[in-house]
Amino acid sequence: MSWTEVGDRVFQRRYDPCDVSVTVVAGGDGLVVVDTRCSLAEAREVREHLKEISSAPVRWVVNTHVHFDHVWGNAEFVAPRQTPPAQLWGSAEMIAAMRGAATDPEATAFKKSLAERNEVWAAKMAELEEVVPDHEVRGRHDLDLGGGRVVSMRQLGRGHTDGDLVLHVPDANVLLMGDLLEQSGDPAFGPDSFPLDWAPTLDAALALAGPDARFVPGHGESTDAAFVRAQRDAIASVAAECRALRSAGVPASEALAAGDWPYPADTLTHAVTRAYAQL
Ligand SMILES: [Zn+2]
Repeated sequence: MSWTEVGDRVFQRRYDPCDVSVTVVAGGDGLVVVDTRCSLAEAREVREHLKEISSAPVRWVVNTHVHFDHVWGNAEFVAPRQTPPAQLWGSAEMIAAMRGAATDPEATAFKKSLAERNEVWAAKMAELEEVVPDHEVRGRHDLDLGGGRVVSMRQLGRGHTDGDLVLHVPDANVLLMGDLLEQSGDPAFGPDSFPLDWAPTLDAALALAGPDARFVPGHGESTDAAFVRAQRDAIASVAAECRALRSAGVPASEALAAGDWPYPADTLTHAVTRAYAQL
């Protein structure tokens, strides 16, 4: 894997573990790094790889959402590892969720399970510093990168989480979608997802995009509007099926067996419980 320039001075790189996207947008005053991988060690590797595309400073770091594979490298970009520190940005909901995770028993159990996985993960977890963004997006905020370039951070609605940010780079016709879009796997309907809201959020992203826009998923290679539309339609059909089954009186526990679904049951366990809860 190496950097791919998905649009003018917009570079994506896919990283294991998790096949997570890190995307860099270069402007006149420095770099924006979008998502920071699962650990400080992994973020240090990103820092090394940045030298392949630019010697400019990292001025901004943006987390598309709260999940660990997108935020646990944040500490690499603030003091003492970086001075002056980058501005760290996330949605208000994402920031609240990351603060909440510090004392959440499930999050604590998850960290413990990672630390016990093997020596590599034990080392990563031993140096974990959860740095919460100190700059909050509410609805929309535009970053001026200098040199006439703007990156627009948008909350277009709920979907993968309640705090998903989409980054629009209008002069390159690129949208960074976070996990609202997945190319290398099925969409991730987690216990914090909003299946009923997700398709309209993708509609808003499609409306924002010009023709021939490129879309960078949270996991996988960059893609086009036709792919986004197809995933949007599949997610909309999950929502429609949940509504229909619930209206017909089918309990959540029987919905996966009773319904006609675009994804395997494993993908949809939380989708059904979350949609039913919302309904
Ligand atoms: Zn995620």
